Amino acid sequence: MNARDFAGARHYLASGTIPGLPDRHFIDGGWVPPAAGNRMESFDPGRAAPFASFAAGRAEDVDLAVEAASRAMRGRWRDMAPPERGRLLVRVAELIRERVARLALVECVDSGKTLGEAAGDVETAARYFDYYGGAADKLQGDYFPLGRDTMSFSLREPVGVTAHIVPWNYPISTFSRSVAPALAAGCTAVVKPAETTPLSALMMAELIAEAGAPPGVCNVVTGTGPQAGAPLSGHPGIHHVTFTGSVATGVGVMQAAAPNIASVTLELGGKSPLIALADCDLDAAVEGALWAIFANAGQICSAGSRLVVERAIHGAFLERLVARAQALRVGHGLRANDFGAVNSDLHLARIAAHVEGARARGREILTGGRTLLDAEEGNGWFYAPTIIDALPADDPCVQEEIFGPVLAVQVVEDAEQALAAANGTRYGLMAGIYTRDITRALRLARDIDAGQVTINEYWAGGICVPFGGTRASGFGREKGLEGLSAYLRTKSIVARV
Ligand code: NAD
Repeated sequence: MNARDFAGARHYLASGTIPGLPDRHFIDGGWVPPAAGNRMESFDPGRAAPFASFAAGRAEDVDLAVEAASRAMRGRWRDMAPPERGRLLVRVAELIRERVARLALVECVDSGKTLGEAAGDVETAARYFDYYGGAADKLQGDYFPLGRDTMSFSLREPVGVTAHIVPWNYPISTFSRSVAPALAAGCTAVVKPAETTPLSALMMAELIAEAGAPPGVCNVVTGTGPQAGAPLSGHPGIHHVTFTGSVATGVGVMQAAAPNIASVTLELGGKSPLIALADCDLDAAVEGALWAIFANAGQICSAGSRLVVERAIHGAFLERLVARAQALRVGHGLRANDFGAVNSDLHLARIAAHVEGARARGREILTGGRTLLDAEEGNGWFYAPTIIDALPADDPCVQEEIFGPVLAVQVVEDAEQALAAANGTRYGLMAGIYTRDITRALRLARDIDAGQVTINEYWAGGICVPFGGTRASGFGREKGLEGLSAYLRTKSIVARV
């Protein structure tokens, strides 16, 4: 990011304001005030202070948005030639890159993450629009051989109006992960961002319209889950719901969608293991484990929140990892720190309660285990990078998703025990393996019950690699070409000739 970008950051730090932020719903190509007139505040977690206000949407607002998306579905969007739709999505990517400074600033302040992380998320958002823009004119069907007197082929059609319910940890990239393939497939979208991070979704909807999308193609209704998310997930005008969030809410979303026979993608939580076997490259594994749990202050569904380490290297591994964790610079995301605030006071209290529970059970907290304040602000919702050692398999810190910077360590004797530990929770989102023995790594990768497994680099991958969960982590796949399938349905045509 260049010096001009930091001017925006300096202005915010001096004034506590960002001029020109969106404050209404984006429906049918324009800004629409909430029908009932209610508003909410968005907070800067790094300062524990409000900096923006937005519309608190209700069922009436959702109705308007779904009607607009339905009209757009029947209109020019459905009939737009796929290459034109693809070019439009690539134009969205260009506009995102042109606006990276402002988008990253808003995302950083709204979520609490660091400016570097926010800028990375904005680039990821642009890549989703590039990738799915390129796919828009390649959604071809198939031909089925039935003999000379019959011609049979399939069309791949958009499923219709899609709902996207987004959490607060990666607001702009999660928005783009599902909206870009939905639009590429020819669907229209109604998005409900999290109530603690509503701003980047509104900015994205405006930007998609600016790129040339007809009114109603992408709509955003802001507000709480119960008041705006629930009417959206149960709306009879919705044909598919992509939900990213907690297990409990995901169950409710699936129940709400059921009477409408709407299909559902559920991207839920995780308790993913990073397995460090005794023969691993210790430096690489320690660095991998550090960022597996402390990137985005641990608020990642696929965070490596359990370290499953072989006893032979347990002491050396933890000594290095604790030193690295203690060296992380914690503070406001705009001040070039490594590690920002957690997203809300409520979430901070939840994280603290998990760790207090471990303390009460007599567990060994090697580092962290307390809340912090930003040194310059004297405020903010920060939780120290925390490592809890040698936990038994049934400890709540091993079994429950904390969704914060808290690493649960499990010590095992060998690869077989590591596999049992890896599969020992109800979740199946991700696993990382560090070993120099590729055969052992591949056997573990085969036997671990998770949607994705990485070897010798925890965050290895990219937007072309399908992503999703097994068991309580959900179902359906996003990213990659497979990420388009939720938004397409096949129509078979058979003709007697
Ligand atoms: P959450 O379930 O509380 O909220 C997620 C979204 O659902 C928000 O927009 C919220 O307003 C909305 N919502 C809440 N109640 C609703 C209802 N009754 N009906 C419809 N929508 C409703 O989750 P959260 O605390 O915001 O996010 C953290 C969770 O998300 C963690 O469990 C994390 O693992 C998960 N997550 C999963 C992925 C993934 O890709 N698998 C990615 C990020 C986060």
